[in-house]
Amino acid sequence: MDFRLNENQSLYVDTVRKLVKNEITPHILEMEKAHAFPWGIIGKAWEMGVLNLCIPESIKGFEIDVISSAIIIEELSFGDTGISTSAMCNDLANVVISQHGTKEQQEKFLRPFAERPLLASFCLTEPGAGSDNSLMTSFICKRDDGSYVLNGSKCFITNSSYASQYTVLCKVGKPTSNFMACVVIPVDPVTASDIPDIKSNTREIKVPTGGRIVVGKPEDKLGQRLSNTASVTFEDVVILPEQIIGDRRFGFKYIVDVLDYARPMVAAIGLGLARRALAVTLDYTRERKQFGQRICDLPVARETITTMWKKVELARLALFRAACKIEEKAKDAGIYASLAKNTAAEAAIFCATEGLHLHGGYGFTTEYEISKLARDAHIIDIYEGVREVQNMIIGREIV
Ligand SMILES: Cc1cc2nc3c(=O)[nH]c(=O)nc-3n(C[C@H](O)[C@H](O)[C@H](O)COP(=O)(O)OP(=O)(O)OC[C@H]3O[C@@H](n4cnc5c(N)ncnc54)[C@H](O)[C@@H]3O)c2cc1C
Repeated sequence: MDFRLNENQSLYVDTVRKLVKNEITPHILEMEKAHAFPWGIIGKAWEMGVLNLCIPESIKGFEIDVISSAIIIEELSFGDTGISTSAMCNDLANVVISQHGTKEQQEKFLRPFAERPLLASFCLTEPGAGSDNSLMTSFICKRDDGSYVLNGSKCFITNSSYASQYTVLCKVGKPTSNFMACVVIPVDPVTASDIPDIKSNTREIKVPTGGRIVVGKPEDKLGQRLSNTASVTFEDVVILPEQIIGDRRFGFKYIVDVLDYARPMVAAIGLGLARRALAVTLDYTRERKQFGQRICDLPVARETITTMWKKVELARLALFRAACKIEEKAKDAGIYASLAKNTAAEAAIFCATEGLHLHGGYGFTTEYEISKLARDAHIIDIYEGVREVQNMIIGREIV
């Protein structure tokens, strides 16, 4: 057991810190207010090799281990969790192809991401199927020529207005089927020059194999305004057998594998945010004086800051425990992924809320980054499975 970073990990930290320090932190409040999609930063992250962490080396990807991936996501999230959510979603969509796709599928569906800064979407949630995804009704139906046709609607899909590929979980045969499949739908590639900013427009995509995808207006969100989130409707989209990943009945198993990988990444997002909230609060309370003392020296305020620090460090421990479990393919990795997610979400919400409080009235204005962090923090406790679902997973396993 060793908590020291290896040479590669130190290099990742330095690389991402440089990106955050030079490109994100100085402009973050203006960028967030402008609500424009951060293509420039996505492009730089791609050039620096910190996007598409799960693509195998055989496809010219970086095949970065889970611990290093978590470190990269944490550092990017210290800059902005909307940007890191967008970046992380490429892996959320593509990890199932890395894990369960054939060599041909990996070549076809992953190589474009190694060649250009493109975005992918992972389409699981539906209006009637949130925490309980077994209620989904999107489905593929086989046709006489051996191909399938996909119909259904997904909601809250990250990157969807800009995506070049959609990984979709759907039922097989009929909406009420017990079997779930995972299908991949590449569309004409989209870069910054194709759709610089979708604004509040919808997007209609003619799918090369047949049918169409309609992406709704981007959601106007409380926080993480630099990530794009919209609904996606699949209308008679033709799916060829080679677009189905693995066994077309094992979608439930693939979701578990994807989420076991992704929950620690969300924990890393929460940890980065909690660390940022602590950092800006330390800066502020070291400067501001009341009652003849710096705020950070007032005993009750000092205690709050100490609790913030403890939550950050505990979130880091839970994250690395989960990442090690996943790396070693431990059978109980899932409950550690859930523990890491809940611990980091709690740290993020606590640090942002208490940090805002320690800024007093100034924290309630948009001039101070802490107000943005407080808005951003809530989603960590919701996406990739709400807090109660993580507790349900842990409770079920330990009992
Ligand atoms: C910004 C953003 C980005 C997202 N990105 C994606 C994406 O890229 N792809 C994707 O597929 N989805 C995405 N989602 C969807 C997200 O994963 C879901 O919103 C989440 O899983 C919760 O589902 P729901 O919103 O339907 O809430 P519901 O399932 O309706 O839950 C509402 C509340 O009910 C309670 N609850 C639910 N289940 C239980 C339980 N078992 N026990 C006790 N209480 C419970 C909880 O308090 C919960 O918060 C995103 C969402 C947002 C907001």
